[in-house]
Amino acid sequence: MKLSLVVPCYNEAENVAAFQEAVISAFSDCGYDYEIVFVNDGSRDATLHNLKKIHAAQKCPVQVISFSRNFGKEAGLYAGLEHARGEYISLIDADLQQRPEIVRDMVRILDEEPEVDVVAAYQDRRGEGKVLSFFKKSFYTLINKLSRVSLQPDASDFRTFRRSVRDSLLELSEYHRFSKGLFAWVGYETKFIPYTACERASGTTKWSFWKLVEYAIEGIIGFSTAPLRLATVLGSVSGIIAILYLIWVIIEKLVWGIAVPGYATIIVLILLFSSVQLFCIGIIGEYVGRIFEQSKDRPIYIAKEVLDYTEQ
Ligand code: UDP
Ligand code: MG
Repeated sequence: MKLSLVVPCYNEAENVAAFQEAVISAFSDCGYDYEIVFVNDGSRDATLHNLKKIHAAQKCPVQVISFSRNFGKEAGLYAGLEHARGEYISLIDADLQQRPEIVRDMVRILDEEPEVDVVAAYQDRRGEGKVLSFFKKSFYTLINKLSRVSLQPDASDFRTFRRSVRDSLLELSEYHRFSKGLFAWVGYETKFIPYTACERASGTTKWSFWKLVEYAIEGIIGFSTAPLRLATVLGSVSGIIAILYLIWVIIEKLVWGIAVPGYATIIVLILLFSSVQLFCIGIIGEYVGRIFEQSKDRPIYIAKEVLDYTEQ
């Protein structure tokens, strides 16, 4: 098996059949074997039903892994990687925003350039608003400053890589997964190629603004401990300010001899420092929560059903 296409699907009932058709037509004359690994991430529409039809028809080798509930795209990718049999593995969305033809180009690059291990596509033109792209840009600047891994801005999960990379990714079995960071962490020689994302074939995006914010926090907490240091920095700065103020108060008392009741000052200081403390506890909580999640050692996903083509 030369190539595995790993396709996470969440409520993509209208897209899965069209996706398979697009793959078959893109690879009709490629001259090598390929399989599609669909991961049904607890869809609430007819996605599983349609995937079963596709699996029964076997127009090309198709595996279907169906989760017991929605575990998120990252879990879907992990399951797909585990089941992929190909020498090359490609991660691609089910909504046809990423054309299968580009995967062919990626495979060609891996064939022709043995030193390249990963071919990653990045969006050359983004159709999104100014506010969102500002936030995304700030996120990449921040995370690249804070953590030791460096992320390529705009690079998506749309990638094709060698089996050795897949093995390394599977070794990172952390519960909170942030695949852009995981890819950067495992290293390997990566080549970036531009692509233009198409319109979603049908359905809507599963990413709201707040989900993106959550994902960004996941990335920062998962790949940097710098926020923890923030507590030390804030504590030191406010400590120095407090000492300077103390000296000032003593001098004031000695020189003028009157201790004016500073009611407002006290209220402001109490509010300020208690909020700094709560903020820092919150940061620590984010990390402790992740330790808690990880120490429970729960599986990343639960597969309710696995349909494999070799069993037929
Ligand atoms: N997806 C998934 N589980 C989720 C959310 C999304 O498997 O909880 C899949 C979805 O079906 C699609 C891919 O992840 O194939 C990308 O999702 P989407 O198109 O909503 O993201 P966008 O392209 O807007 O970034
Ligand atoms: Mg999409």
